[in-house]
Amino acid sequence: MTPPVALVTRLDETAEIAWQQRLAAAMPGETLLRFSAMSPAQRDVADIAIVANPDPADLARLPRLRLVHSLWAGVERLMAELPPDAPPVVRLVDPELSRTMAEAVLAWTYYLQRDMPAYARQQREKQWRQRPYRPASGYHVGVLGLGELGAAACRALKQAGFPVAGWSRSAKALDGVHCHHGEVGLTTLLAGCDAVICLLPLTPQTRGLLNADRLARMKTGAALVNFARGPVVVADDLLAALDGGHLSHAVLDVFDTEPLPPQSPLWEHPAITVLPHVSAPTSPDSAAAVVAANIAVYRRSGLLPPVVDRDRGY
Ligand code: NAP
Repeated sequence: MTPPVALVTRLDETAEIAWQQRLAAAMPGETLLRFSAMSPAQRDVADIAIVANPDPADLARLPRLRLVHSLWAGVERLMAELPPDAPPVVRLVDPELSRTMAEAVLAWTYYLQRDMPAYARQQREKQWRQRPYRPASGYHVGVLGLGELGAAACRALKQAGFPVAGWSRSAKALDGVHCHHGEVGLTTLLAGCDAVICLLPLTPQTRGLLNADRLARMKTGAALVNFARGPVVVADDLLAALDGGHLSHAVLDVFDTEPLPPQSPLWEHPAITVLPHVSAPTSPDSAAAVVAANIAVYRRSGLLPPVVDRDRGY
């Protein structure tokens, strides 16, 4: 008999049950059980765990685990908490997530290119003032991270007529995108872009990447969008760059602490747009279908999609 699949999360009960129902509907051949509802005998034989910020102590109580499949695309917390001998981790790679993120990148790029923060300010001050129009073709956008989400964002931006540059760890070639890598490549990108969009995973190498030094290399008057993880940007350095007038605006969807604490100065800063981690919410239906398909292939052939590289951290 096929062993059960464990659903291990730190979500609240309602959210966990909703995921269980969706996932169970997508994989009718599997027995999907919430970890808290599994008997010791079921825990002893479960070989696959589907997880969302799981408690590592729960995973340790599944001795036969061969595969951990995350419902999220970002897995920095999971990778930091799992022991070195943990089974392979597959993260969510979902075309619907990429589409949603590309849509958000385009929406907030338009927000900046069309000067919406300035018009909102002018309205509050009852100021009737037409600002110079900047065509998309003259508004340079840089995307940090050219993975599943970054590459989709580049395609959407390019299609909308923005000149696009990108930066990744290894050298890459994307049609119509000026691709850079390495520290020199990052400096070139930062110096040449009107808006920089961060879509990097959080790893030891990217933590604090956008610090005072690198923010200073951005073009004067440029804007920053962080849709990746809060700690990639040093918040105090960003505040200083905005207060000093070097940068014009920041759109932040992710923060060091979430929810953003009420006392954070980011909430009321006139040059910051705060979003509550909404740029690309996981679509339960498409995510369940992706996870189900990956598990079906694994059951049939033992093959896994690319797993998270422990050394790289993503
Ligand atoms: P991915 O496919 O793994 O791509 C990561 C990209 O970042 C790759 O191009 C990689 O370079 C590059 N990279 C990694 N470390 C780097 C470094 N040290 N220097 C330069 N480039 C580096 O990841 P993804 O699926 O696009 O997701 C990216 C992140 O988005 C996730 O980790 C998650 O934190 C975040 N996210 C946010 C939301 C939200 O709602 N705000 C939703 C989903 C995901 P190579 O190509 O050379 O490997």
